[in-house]
Amino acid sequence: MNLADYFLIWKPLLEISILWLVIYHIILFFEGTRALAAMRGIIIVLVAFFVFQKLNLTILDWLLTKLFGISVIAILIVFHPEIRQGLSRLGQGHLFAQPLRKEDIEQILQQIVKAAEDLCRNKEGALIAIEKNDSLNTYIANGVPIDGRVSSELIENIFIRNSLLHDGGLVIQHGRIAAAGCLFPLSESQGLSRVFGTRHRAALGLSQETDAIIIVVSEERQDISLVYRSRLYKDLSGEEILFRIKDILQIKT
Ligand code: ATP
Ligand code: MG
Repeated sequence: MNLADYFLIWKPLLEISILWLVIYHIILFFEGTRALAAMRGIIIVLVAFFVFQKLNLTILDWLLTKLFGISVIAILIVFHPEIRQGLSRLGQGHLFAQPLRKEDIEQILQQIVKAAEDLCRNKEGALIAIEKNDSLNTYIANGVPIDGRVSSELIENIFIRNSLLHDGGLVIQHGRIAAAGCLFPLSESQGLSRVFGTRHRAALGLSQETDAIIIVVSEERQDISLVYRSRLYKDLSGEEILFRIKDILQIKT
């Protein structure tokens, strides 16, 4: 067998590998966003397209060709936030970044929970968002950048009443305190009880737009809530918060 023959065998394998890699990264790109659900629709349209062409159904084929052109523009407009988010993730090298070690994550979570418990005991409010897969860069950009190591002392100092940064939310990204004083989107959900004010609405709003894990300390009621994926789990102990976050992050202890 000469080199050309080898290439003939390897070519389809190479093509399949590249295609697989591209599809995998497209899915990662849109993970946790509305766009992933829309992709299912796009795949169905593409399959229909292929079938119409094979069966020589010219009118349907013509119609889909026209619709396809328009839908590319529609997708760009409708999913522009997701596309931007995906691109900013690519830009950060997030896809290829070394994940944090399990021990480091546990240490960071313990510091965050300790800060929440101390703040709660001292009748201070707090709002802490931990970035998961969806980038929180948009919210970091509207706050004050910090880029500090996570420690309960630093978090508590940020949220004590007279601190310049106590208003707004704190964002943890890649295991560091990225920014504080960040403005999160307020949820318009009618389902949220009246006892919750804007701090809890901001936590819920962020959880509706991203997959961030959010901890809210209520200044009024001195309790700690966990907010994730549009759900608010109220009045949890530090231990329960740790347990739930580890469950979300699938960290086994
Ligand atoms: P608490 O139980 O602590 O009183 P709450 O849910 O009742 O909380 P408010 O009393 O309205 O909410 O809390 C106001 C605080 O919430 C503000 O001082 C600010 O720090 C924070 N906050 C309000 N809106 C936002 C927002 N959009 N993004 C981030 N933080 C916000
Ligand atoms: Mg209040």
